[in-house]
Amino acid sequence: MLKIENLRFKYGRRAPDVLNGVSLELRDGEIGILLGRNGSGKTTLFRNILGLCAPDAGSIRFDERDLLKMNRRERARLVAFVPQEVRFGALSVFDSVLMGRIAYFGLKAGREDYEAVERILAEMQLSGFARRNVEELSGGERQKVAIARAMAQQPRLMIFDEPTGNLDIANEQLILEEARRLARERHIAILSSLHDLNQAMAFGDRFFFMKNGGIRYSGGAECFTTDVIQDIFDIEVKMLEIENQKVILGGSHR
Ligand code: ADP
Repeated sequence: MLKIENLRFKYGRRAPDVLNGVSLELRDGEIGILLGRNGSGKTTLFRNILGLCAPDAGSIRFDERDLLKMNRRERARLVAFVPQEVRFGALSVFDSVLMGRIAYFGLKAGREDYEAVERILAEMQLSGFARRNVEELSGGERQKVAIARAMAQQPRLMIFDEPTGNLDIANEQLILEEARRLARERHIAILSSLHDLNQAMAFGDRFFFMKNGGIRYSGGAECFTTDVIQDIFDIEVKMLEIENQKVILGGSHR
């Protein structure tokens, strides 16, 4: 379980707090979604979890292990990151995924590492692409390779930054389903930012609404109310129910 308590962070000694006491919990196999306007602190929170920024106060633990005290290699075996747009360089799909194993093999990959990559490629139906250059793939395929690389780290927690940002609707669906499968079958905890509220409701188990560097609301899908959305995004929306599913209709600014 991921447990963040009272996290505080600012980008400079005299700068204002960007995270001002963030606390959240996410269980194994759960998908947590961070929602909030641009600048509310989502990326900064990710950077703290990934060890790219060091918080001024608070704690980040996974199963009682202190992430803030881990070195890069230890952390890479626990937490993997899937960025919005991956730049792999001119590598084959196989080698791109193999890079995810670095935390395990150090300088030279061994048979175990090659086998792990083959397994993951097969599982994600990427075996046919193994020798292809990643730069020649479509956005959706590249994103799948990014997830495969993260999987190669055998993480317990995966962080997704707007995973569907640059994808068409079919690929969006594919990536979210793939992520959901990993959470359910591998019991990996997933923490993701997402812009689309309907997509978020369909994909997530737990929701964290951020504003001004803090989590204003958190909980299950019941959190999605017109009042909450108005407070967080400053827009008025309509909520409908279609076939027993809540649907949010994009609103107007107040
Ligand atoms: P989000 O991901 O929700 O859009 P960010 O975490 O990127 O939000 O930004 C939160 C706040 O931190 C914003 O006010 C932003 O201007 C500030 N910020 C982000 N990155 C930096 C940086 N490298 N240096 C200084 N301020 C930053």
